[in-house]
Amino acid sequence: MRITLCGVRGSTPAPGIDFVRHGGHTSCVALTHSAAEQPTLVLDAGTGLQTLGRLLDGSPFAGTILLSHLHWDHVLGLPFFVAGDRPEASISVLLPEQQSGEDAATVLAGIMSPPYFPIGPTQLRGDWSFGSVAPVEREIEGFTVLAREIPHKGGRTFGYRISDGRSTLTYMPDHCPTMLGPGEDGLGAYHAAAIELAKDADVLIHDAQLLPSELAAEADFGHSVADYSLALAQRANARSVVFFHHRHDRTDDALDALAARFEGATPPVTVGAERDVLEL
Ligand SMILES: [Zn+2]
Ligand SMILES: [Zn+2]
Repeated sequence: MRITLCGVRGSTPAPGIDFVRHGGHTSCVALTHSAAEQPTLVLDAGTGLQTLGRLLDGSPFAGTILLSHLHWDHVLGLPFFVAGDRPEASISVLLPEQQSGEDAATVLAGIMSPPYFPIGPTQLRGDWSFGSVAPVEREIEGFTVLAREIPHKGGRTFGYRISDGRSTLTYMPDHCPTMLGPGEDGLGAYHAAAIELAKDADVLIHDAQLLPSELAAEADFGHSVADYSLALAQRANARSVVFFHHRHDRTDDALDALAARFEGATPPVTVGAERDVLEL
């Protein structure tokens, strides 16, 4: 499995010279079965989705976009997805089943339709389909994908465990474990769904939006402290951690300081940066 980070920010894009090294695009991760193939499964459609064309050698995208939830920073790449807005493109968009019972295209039209945007999701060029995922295990683009609902804020949110039969990636970009209690260290509960998703994973890509000093003021915003990500990996026996969903105002220098604080950690920690490629 090849994993390419196309966007690593949370909340809103972060343009400007203070954010060049880690990148300013919001959440988007591309998965490929092997280095020789093009990506077929994309996790989230943040503004990082706009850069996916770089991995496609000029080809239209053919595959699935799997959304963790519907907050802006995970969907606003869709209207500007050049490799998807083409007559030859073939795209399935999957999002968590909504408790309202609304179908996927209708839900997405809530952010993408006039007067907010000139066209609706079904008016993009190419062959687009829209559907929902339940919190179960299923096959998507040749990967085995386990979905579980995890606490976040405002809207149903899934974490995903994705395996190609050889390697396993866990993706939890937005996760608020303090919603389920303080846990043993005050950083949030190490709850059953989080442990199940991350169990023995080769890579845990996890919400690291907050520093411990920010938790008291921002716990209600729906995110995790970076330290929780590592502690979850340790409890679940995951083999590596990628800090992800960096706060939009976290500068490159601040992220370097974060990386330095976790240098030598077990399992190893990487502070995610746009264009990072992980080969499993
Ligand atoms: Zn987010
Ligand atoms: Zn969110």
